[in-house]
Amino acid sequence: MWILGQHDESYRKTRKSVLELVGNTPLVELNRSLPEDIKKKNIKIYAKLESYNPGGSVKDRPATRMILEAINSGKLTKDKVIIDATSGNTGIALAMVGTALGYQVELAMPANVSEERKRIIKAFGAKIHFTNPLESTDGAIIYVRKLVEKYPDKYYYIDQYNNDANWKAHFDSTAVEIWNQTEGKITHFVAGIGTGGTVMGTGRRLKIFNPNIQVIGVQPDSPFHGIEGLKYIETSIKPGIFDENRLDRTMFIGTDIAYQRARELSRLEGIFVGQSSGAAFEAAIRIAREIEEGVIVFICPDGGEKYLTTALYDYE
Ligand code: PMP
Repeated sequence: MWILGQHDESYRKTRKSVLELVGNTPLVELNRSLPEDIKKKNIKIYAKLESYNPGGSVKDRPATRMILEAINSGKLTKDKVIIDATSGNTGIALAMVGTALGYQVELAMPANVSEERKRIIKAFGAKIHFTNPLESTDGAIIYVRKLVEKYPDKYYYIDQYNNDANWKAHFDSTAVEIWNQTEGKITHFVAGIGTGGTVMGTGRRLKIFNPNIQVIGVQPDSPFHGIEGLKYIETSIKPGIFDENRLDRTMFIGTDIAYQRARELSRLEGIFVGQSSGAAFEAAIRIAREIEEGVIVFICPDGGEKYLTTALYDYE
């Protein structure tokens, strides 16, 4: 039994900036939310809670790495404005990291992203360019490319979809944390695909630790009913950092079941998450039904707060 007041040692030091809080997120074993048929097997399912990053999502990791690499390379100087296309979490992360380091940030995103995301980004002092929601994140990408072409001296284009620092952030942090937290026992890794950074970087490193670890990517099952944060790769601009050959498998998950699983994590475990976490949880459950024993880890990219006014948590 856990006792309040028992401390691990990491809290003892002071931090030089909020950026030192990125990463080292908790891995939590699921109990009450597991279906009965899975409880009977010798299977553990763990949720990696990325809402514990200071910007509230998994995107703090690549945002930190992409900005620091740009500064170190000399390409991002103080006179430039950081810009990128994002469905939201990358925007929040870039705004937070940029602000912490003293840079201006501008973001292009589809106008229909949740109100909470827009306000958090504004709270960090960043500017938003809204693009046509019907064109999804592809519209935002095309918009930013045109803007950067027009004002090449003004902007530093982060380009999260083609930036190797995106997946490398996960190669060096997320994967190592999961390997250590499971004491090398992980057998299956599950993560949603937006840019593909999480699944590519974490998967690549885990396979170096143990080539038998199965790496599973999660996509929405249709280009029309989106799961915020995830991309239906077939009909989108393909992210340059995404290489399907590095995945053992892709699972296509519907919006309704993703919502249901996200709500179950709140109601049955006390873990409050967004819908892409629900999609990854459903994929983990499907894998657990196919195997007799194993240790499955799935990523919960963010918490539920940003979705309070969306259909996900707008129910009786
Ligand atoms: N879920 C959410 C809520 C996200 O914002 C993102 C990032 N777009 C992802 C999943 C996917 O992460 P990645 O870009 O690393 O593939």
